[in-house]
Amino acid sequence: MQLTELYREVILDHNRHPRNFGRLDPHDAEAKGHNPLCGDRLTLTLVREGDRVADLRFEGNGCAISMASASMMTEAVKGRTRTEIDALFGRVHALLTVQGADGSDLGKLAALSGVREFPVRVKCASLCWHTLNAALARGDAVAGAAAVSTE
Ligand code: ZN
Repeated sequence: MQLTELYREVILDHNRHPRNFGRLDPHDAEAKGHNPLCGDRLTLTLVREGDRVADLRFEGNGCAISMASASMMTEAVKGRTRTEIDALFGRVHALLTVQGADGSDLGKLAALSGVREFPVRVKCASLCWHTLNAALARGDAVAGAAAVSTE
């Protein structure tokens, strides 16, 4: 099986059977994302534990790339710190936009490398990451207020 074929299979699998699909209630942060170019919409809820994303879920609808990307992202970032997530998004963004960027150590996320052949799809694949950043930024505001009150 060719690598591109394998990547297509991974994306189709995550689109058909999205992981971590649904809502977390209660949650520490929620954000909505919309990609008007394609019509993709998703809502992300997450629970934090200190600086880590202890758990997260997404729901919504959109094209196969947007749903598969969100599904793979939730698996990749669960349990990670904000710093680790920022670094991972940097790697994924390069994978989506830079010809020849190496994603061989990114696990399933490497399947997104095929997206760079279709620039219009980059926003589909990155929507979930931008939505996660928005949710984390909101969580930071809450965490920051809590930190101030305890010091
Ligand atoms: Zn899309």
